[in-house]
This record gives sequence, C-alpha cells and structure tokens, in this order.
Amino acid sequence: MSILDCAIIGGGPAGLTAGLYTTRGGLENVTMFEKGMPGGQITNSSEIENYPGATGEITGMELMNPWPEQCQRFGLIHKMSNVTRVSKSGDVFTIYNEDGSTDQAYSVIIGTGSSPRRVGFKGEDELFGKGVSTCATCDGFFYKGKEVAVIGGGDTALEEALYLAKICSKVYIIHRRDTFRSAPNTIKRIENTDNIELVLDSTPDEVYGDKMGVTGIRVKNKNGEMRDIIVPGVFTFVGNDVNNETLKQDDGSFLCEMNDQGQVIVDITMKTSVPGLFATGDMRISAPKQVISAAGDGAVAALQAISYMDELLN
Ligand code: FAD
Ligand code: NAP
Repeated sequence: MSILDCAIIGGGPAGLTAGLYTTRGGLENVTMFEKGMPGGQITNSSEIENYPGATGEITGMELMNPWPEQCQRFGLIHKMSNVTRVSKSGDVFTIYNEDGSTDQAYSVIIGTGSSPRRVGFKGEDELFGKGVSTCATCDGFFYKGKEVAVIGGGDTALEEALYLAKICSKVYIIHRRDTFRSAPNTIKRIENTDNIELVLDSTPDEVYGDKMGVTGIRVKNKNGEMRDIIVPGVFTFVGNDVNNETLKQDDGSFLCEMNDQGQVIVDITMKTSVPGLFATGDMRISAPKQVISAAGDGAVAALQAISYMDELLN
C-alpha cells in the first residue's frame, strides 16, 4: 500500500479547497475521504447570497456542484468513506475507514465540519432549508421587513436575535425557561430592543408550512397552552456539535489539542498541535462558520501541507 502525500477528511468547502490547492500545488496521491456527496452542509441551503461572485438566485447545491470536478481535473482522488479514526505513529498517519480498511498518509487535512443541534420539534427536519434555518448571517436577509422566530436562550440565540432585529420587522425569542444562559449585557440589549418579543417558558411544538416554505410555528407554554406565531422564518440556535469523532483515539483522548467545546485548536496557519495534521472550517476554534472562510482555511492548510511535505521528504 503506497503512502498518500495527503489525506483530506471531509468534502465540504474546506476539504474541497484543500483538495484543489494540494493537487494543483504538486502533491501526488492526494485522496479526499467523504462519507456522502461532496459539497458539505451548504448543499442544504436553498439560497446563498454571500459567496463572492455567486450572484443571482443560486442554491447551495448549485454553488458546490462544480467544486469536485475542478479538483479532480488536477488529480484529486475521491474516496467515498466514513472515516472512523485518524491516528499517527512516527511520521505516518493511519486513516481507519468504516468498512474496516485502512489508508496511510504523511499529512492530513481534516474538515469534517459541525452540525447544528436539532431542537426536535415536528416539521423541523422537513422544513429545514425551507424556512427553518440555523444561520442568521446566511438567511436573515431573506426575511427583511418580515417577522421571524428564534429558538434558544444562549449567547448564540440572543446575539443572532439582535442581528435579525436589525433586518426583520419583529423577532420572537422562544425559550424553554424564563432566564437566559447568556452574558448580562446581551440580555440587557435584548430587553431594550423594541421589536423583540420574549416568549418564555415555552417550547416549539410544531413548525408548519406549505410548498413555498414555513408559514408558522406552534408553541406550548408551561401551562400546556398553545399559541400560533405566524412567521415565514424560524431560526434555531440550541448549540452546535463539532464533528470531531475521527480524532478520538482508542483510549478516549484526542489526537491533537482541543478546547472545552470540542473544537480543534489551530494557529493562524491551520496547524494543530500534531505536526502534519491541519484542521479547517467549522471544526476549528473561532470559526466564522461561513463557506468563504472554510474555503480560505482549506487553501491555507493545503499550502502548509505542501511545505510540511517538502521538509519531511527532502
Ligand atoms: P461542512 O460543510 O460541514 O463539510 C464537512 C464534510 O465532511 C461533510 O460533507 C461531511 O459529510 C463530511 N464528513 C463529516 N464527517 C466525516 C467522516 N467521519 N468521514 C468522512 N466525511 C465526513 N455559509 C455561508 O457562507 N453562507 C450561507 O448562506 C450559508 N447558509 C447556510 C445555510 C444552512 C442551512 C447551513 C446548515 C449552513 C449555512 N452556511 C452558510 C454555513 C456553511 O455551510 C458552513 O460554514 C460550511 O459549509 C463549513 O464548511 P466545512 O467544509 O468546514 O464543513
Ligand atoms: P448554549 O450556551 O448551549 O445554549 C443553548 C440554548 O439552547 C440554551 O438556552 C438551551 O436552553 C437551549 N436549548 C438547548 N436544547 C434545547 C431544546 N431541545 N429545546 C429548546 N431549547 C434548547 O449554546 P450557544 O448559545 O450556541 O453557545 C455555545 C457556547 O458558545 C457557550 O459557551 C456560549 O457562551 C458561547 N458563545 C459565546 C458568545 C460570546 O461570548 N459573545 C457568543 C456565542 C456563543 P437552557 O438554557 O434551558 O439550557
């Protein structure tokens, strides 16, 4: 079995850009391991407006469609595989595939992304990307001048609600308790914002809609009373899970240093604490969680991987 110059784990914007830059930059034998269709989570979005140059009505799927082919032209190999673990011994990484096989590589760029937690109410999955969103920066503009609902009571929910309140005519914050898990100053700003209504001690029961998307959300309060809130957009911010399982070792430790939220600690060049291992996109610390920044990380990591290989093999 030959040893890959570089293994890329994850085929979202970060992984695909890393694939483009490593192959075009001269690395041989670069394989991208992706468990599903390449493209990443943005393929769930019905419209993307903030990727530079992508003007007009374009879906996330349409944005990402040409990326794999562009990389393959420079020699990127796509292996459809769910990677269960990455480990390192000496200078060589081992990639464990779910089918039981293994691959080896001198460098690894990981970009397995993150998954916004689902709240778990009826209609959430069916209407995801059609009015149910987990990204105010991405989708808030579609509701300019309209009313929206925000689910959650942490820093993210409150900060995103403040962002949405500048664009939307009204924001309902639906939170399951009557106190927030957020910085006091943020709570004060929420209370001082006229077009935010707090719907406390309440949980979403069902989001509903028609073929055009969401039309409303039904919430239940602690007394069991139901209320219909008529909105075309529902934003859920109930926490995020970083997809870091592949870095977990047999003894439960992680291959490289992580922060207490399970995000990979990197420096400005995407280097992790393990030489030859680079982490990119949504899974790294301080990630802006945008396609453009994930792609940028992929390019930065690829250039670093090329330098690392130069030093290792020459
Ligand atoms: P991801 O896109 O999450 O890609 C990770 C990839 O790794 C996935 O393809 C996954 O299948 C694969 N993978 C995970 N684990 C494994 C494994 N063990 N083995 C093999 N493969 C694995 N951003 C914007 O800039 N503008 C927007 O308008 C916008 N809208 C959004 C709308 C929605 C509905 C969502 C969900 C997100 C949106 N975002 C938007 C955010 C953007 O999609 C992410 O920031 C970006 O996709 C992160 O890229 P990534 O490559 O780090 O990870
Ligand atoms: P979080 O702090 O975990 O808050 C999640 C919120 O969602 C909580 O209010 C929680 O309710 C609610 N929730 C969780 N599951 C739910 C469910 N199934 N149904 C209804 N509500 C549910 O997540 P986060 O806001 O994304 O923040 C993550 C971390 O990043 C935190 O440490 C946060 O402080 C930090 N952060 C910091 C900043 C900042 O410093 N400016 C900004 C953003 C995030 P309960 O409160 O009842 O548990």
